[in-house]
Amino acid sequence: MDFQLTPDQREIQALARDIAKAEIEPHAAQWDREHTFPRDLYPKLAELGLMGVCIPEEYGGAGADFLSYILVLEEISRADAGVGVTVAVHTSAVTLPILTFGSDEQRARFVPPLARGDAIGAFALTEPESGSDAASLRTRADATGDGWQISGTKQFISTAEHAGTFLLFARTDQDTPGARGVSAFILDAEHIRVTGREEKLGLNSSVTNSIAVDAAVERDRLLHEEGRGFHVAMATLDGGRIGIAAQALGIAQAAYDVARAYALERRQFGKRIGEFEAVQWKLADMSTELDAARLLVYRAAWLKQQGEPHTEAGAKAKVFASEMARRHSGEAIQILGGYGYTTEFPVERYYRDARVTEIYEGTSEIQRLVIARTILGLSERSLASAS
Ligand SMILES: Cc1cc2nc3c(=O)[nH]c(=O)nc-3n(C[C@H](O)[C@H](O)[C@H](O)COP(=O)(O)OP(=O)(O)OC[C@H]3O[C@@H](n4cnc5c(N)ncnc54)[C@H](O)[C@@H]3O)c2cc1C
Repeated sequence: MDFQLTPDQREIQALARDIAKAEIEPHAAQWDREHTFPRDLYPKLAELGLMGVCIPEEYGGAGADFLSYILVLEEISRADAGVGVTVAVHTSAVTLPILTFGSDEQRARFVPPLARGDAIGAFALTEPESGSDAASLRTRADATGDGWQISGTKQFISTAEHAGTFLLFARTDQDTPGARGVSAFILDAEHIRVTGREEKLGLNSSVTNSIAVDAAVERDRLLHEEGRGFHVAMATLDGGRIGIAAQALGIAQAAYDVARAYALERRQFGKRIGEFEAVQWKLADMSTELDAARLLVYRAAWLKQQGEPHTEAGAKAKVFASEMARRHSGEAIQILGGYGYTTEFPVERYYRDARVTEIYEGTSEIQRLVIARTILGLSERSLASAS
């Protein structure tokens, strides 16, 4: 066992922390208030290699390992979780699956622009009537002589209105319901029409769109094999969940940092409130569970980069870190009292942002199903779920 990060991992963590402190944190409250997607930030992240951290250098990435990417997501989300989700979807839900499942030609064509940040990626699985039960999706792809005619609607698609490349899932076999009739496609912005933008509880520096597709595309837009799209989606989400767990970890760390500093400053009854046992216990629990979450998240990332099974570990990391982030951002508000409930301090934003980590890339209920089926050795359709 070795609990130390490598020198390379520490270096990339410090790089991410520096840019997050300089370019993200000072603006996060304003982006949240004004619902600003910080379009100009992404070229800056790309310049530092942070739009393709774990993509090999030959494909335009920084060539670091998966744990380094997780450290980057944690640091960015500590400053602004909306930026965190944009980078997470772009990297682990779009660039990595094209790298993993693409043909040589697809990898050479689509991965470098994504890894260099010239195009942002969007992952389009969820539909108005297909969420946790992703295998019930209805968007259809019909074979034409020389390609595919794809038509349907998708819902809750992060970054769609700014994306250049879409990984989109559609049913290629209309006679086969469920997972086996689904295939994955790589589409461009010109194939997609953005039809709406959600108003959300938080994560306001990210955008969440509904989209429609009605496009004819060439044969070579099919990713992996026909009918194997659900496998692509589930494998993608296995890794993506570790990223969302890291996002939750970053939010919780930020909430703890503010609460701890406040407890050492704020005086009531002639004492600093951190001298009251009730406040000490909250901080002790926060610190303990942050450590526990971090170990779960880094272990899942480490398993993935070793090429080991990581479905169960990733689900455990996500369910624990996301619920911990919601609880502790709530406790941070409590420690700040009335000030915590105002926008003068960032903890109310952390609380709103943390909430979604229990929902996307598989709800907490779905994570528990994944864990239960694995530990009980129950079979397959290893969960018809869950974007
Ligand atoms: C901000 C945001 C960004 C998102 N970004 C993307 C994106 O980029 N791409 C994308 O494809 N999707 C995206 N999503 C969609 C997200 O992944 C789904 O919202 C999520 O998977 C849940 O699906 P649903 O909303 O349809 O809920 P439902 O599946 O309808 O679930 C409703 C409730 O029922 C529970 N439930 C459902 N099935 C079961 C079961 N079998 N057992 C127990 N409980 C169950 C759920 O846990 C939940 O509590 C995003 C969502 C949000 C809010």
